[in-house]
Amino acid sequence: MKSKLFSVFLALTFCLLAVSTAFAQEYGITLKLSRDFGYSSGTGDIQGLFSMKVTGPDDLERVEFYIDEIMIGEATAAPFRIQFTTDDYPIGLHTMYAIGYTSDGTALYSREYTANFVSADEGWEAATRIIIPIASILLIAILLAVVVPAIVTRGKIEQLPLGEERKYGFRGGGICPKCHRPFAVHLWGMNLGLSRYDRCPYCGKWSVVRVQSLTKLRAAEKAELAWAQAEAPQVSEEDRLRKEIEDSKYQ
Ligand SMILES: [Zn+2]
Repeated sequence: MKSKLFSVFLALTFCLLAVSTAFAQEYGITLKLSRDFGYSSGTGDIQGLFSMKVTGPDDLERVEFYIDEIMIGEATAAPFRIQFTTDDYPIGLHTMYAIGYTSDGTALYSREYTANFVSADEGWEAATRIIIPIASILLIAILLAVVVPAIVTRGKIEQLPLGEERKYGFRGGGICPKCHRPFAVHLWGMNLGLSRYDRCPYCGKWSVVRVQSLTKLRAAEKAELAWAQAEAPQVSEEDRLRKEIEDSKYQ
């Protein structure tokens, strides 16, 4: 009984040892696969021009690069690198690895990479499958941000007494170059650096408006009254009544 337990224990220990050595197996050189031009799905499908690059110990002298156990080339100086085109190989799974040799002749192995080489058409198809939804989302966003507000606000003109203090919000305010009235810039206004292409809610015209400081905006509010007064000279109540009577004579 005791000896049986001991043998089970021995077997278990042996298993553990085997597993740990498998995990501890170190690769003497590091192989990296990088895309130079082409397509990579991120899940192992690749197409186009790729590079295999190896880094290793200082005394690494030579590196052989392999695809499916066939040497495709070697590099004898750092950076140990080789380029290949997936189109030169049949479509399907391929295994890539490298073997390096140090100055004393020791062979060092890299880990293996497996990738699925796809056709150029498939690569493009997959790329458009990604691009098309992104482009449509962008288009919808532009539509919502620019076109919809333009239609909704078309012809709509806000009434606000001249000289009245307004709230400009965190986006700030601008001064309409056409009617000189200050207004809070809109969410839909198109950003052009420090300026925006926005619609004045008082005269309804679109123009490039610069976001101004609050002091400037307050001054513009006050100036509204001055503008209005300059355009329509003040008429006394008496004059106004007299004019009304005179006008009524001709009716
Ligand atoms: Zn205006």
